[in-house]
Amino acid sequence: MSVSDMPVQRADFDQVMVPNYAPAAFIPVRGEGSRVWDQSGRELIDFAGGIAVTVLGHNHPKLVAALTEQAKKIWHVSNVLTNEPALRLAKKLTSATFADKVFFANSGAEANEAAFKLARRYAHDKFGPEKHEIIAATNSFHGRTLFTVTVGGQPKYSDGFGPKLEGISHVPFNDLEALKAQISDKTCAVVLEPVQGESGILPADAEYLKAVRELCNQHNALLVFDEVQTGMGRSGHLYAYQHYGVTPDILSSAKSLGGGFPIGAILTTNEIAAHFGVGTHGSTYGGNPLGCAVAEAVFDVVNTPECLAGVAERHARFKAGLEAINAKYGVFQTVRGLGLLIGCPLVEAYKGRAKDFMSAAEAEGLMVLQASPDVVRLAPSLVITNEEIDEGLARLERAVAKVVAG
Ligand SMILES: *Cc1c(COP(=O)(O)O)cnc(C)c1O
Repeated sequence: MSVSDMPVQRADFDQVMVPNYAPAAFIPVRGEGSRVWDQSGRELIDFAGGIAVTVLGHNHPKLVAALTEQAKKIWHVSNVLTNEPALRLAKKLTSATFADKVFFANSGAEANEAAFKLARRYAHDKFGPEKHEIIAATNSFHGRTLFTVTVGGQPKYSDGFGPKLEGISHVPFNDLEALKAQISDKTCAVVLEPVQGESGILPADAEYLKAVRELCNQHNALLVFDEVQTGMGRSGHLYAYQHYGVTPDILSSAKSLGGGFPIGAILTTNEIAAHFGVGTHGSTYGGNPLGCAVAEAVFDVVNTPECLAGVAERHARFKAGLEAINAKYGVFQTVRGLGLLIGCPLVEAYKGRAKDFMSAAEAEGLMVLQASPDVVRLAPSLVITNEEIDEGLARLERAVAKVVAG
């Protein structure tokens, strides 16, 4: 028996994997569009998309072609050299956004790590070492490295790992007065998610983001948008900053950028990028040909008027369906979010039970997510079909009915 034929089951997870995750009982083995099949051949509809990652569903022919064609050419060259897919992707990302320059990483946390280091280096070079303070939002999420958990405003992710980085503070999201009170000429960056993802799909107020931009300008602080979850079409624009009409100085992207293949990136201006000179930062796998080839294919499909307009249409279909379910069962306070990043905060009686809705949905053959214990989250593919949406919503309704029935 070859190694790849070795039979494995969910129970093996507890034997051989570090217990930092608690995966579901089934193991998916195959996907097609917004449907996934597990080891036993059971079919599930995918409203989760990984966690807002598989932006074009599973097994998309253009992504498979990009990956397999590149796999036959060259996989890896190191950053001592550059490569064609990275250059093409960087040209496309810069021509479609505010940015002049791109740095490639392998994940959201790595992209944010680069963004925060770049913001500090820029301020250090331009204004001196005093200007290193970073202000982020309470309940934000920016990844799991020590720097990014410290900038993320959730102590449960940053406590217990020894001394934290200094010079980082948190203010409530969407609260301009709180930011005004905290920002100073020592602030090097204000870091925000345009829609807070992990903590409950909370969109920023447009007026708030505009005022934050002004405050940053007044204090020579950079505005960093973490678009790891909101980026690559999910908001109905290529990036959510374009929806808000508020331009950051540095933007981080990952998740949907690779459509399921690991890649991250930061986008920034010429002036700021110049402060990451030769040797200041780097990554072995960052910008590798495979990841960039796939991300280029994702970009080519997503950044089209048809695909982006389709996000708004699908949002409307989801919203109507979720509101119809809610009209019967009264479990959601509201249906919120941008594009295909949708949150359903639970009413008081069901607070803390998002996981129960997730489990009930799975039993009905539907994958959904939670965002905090109080919010049911949907992050489906941008090209999910109407049939898949309707069938998934029917399954969700059965799941909600079961939770309500106890
Ligand atoms: C998922 C996420 C990250 C972390 O990305 P990884 O690829 O898991 O490192 C960072 N910021 C936001 C907003 C995210 O949603």
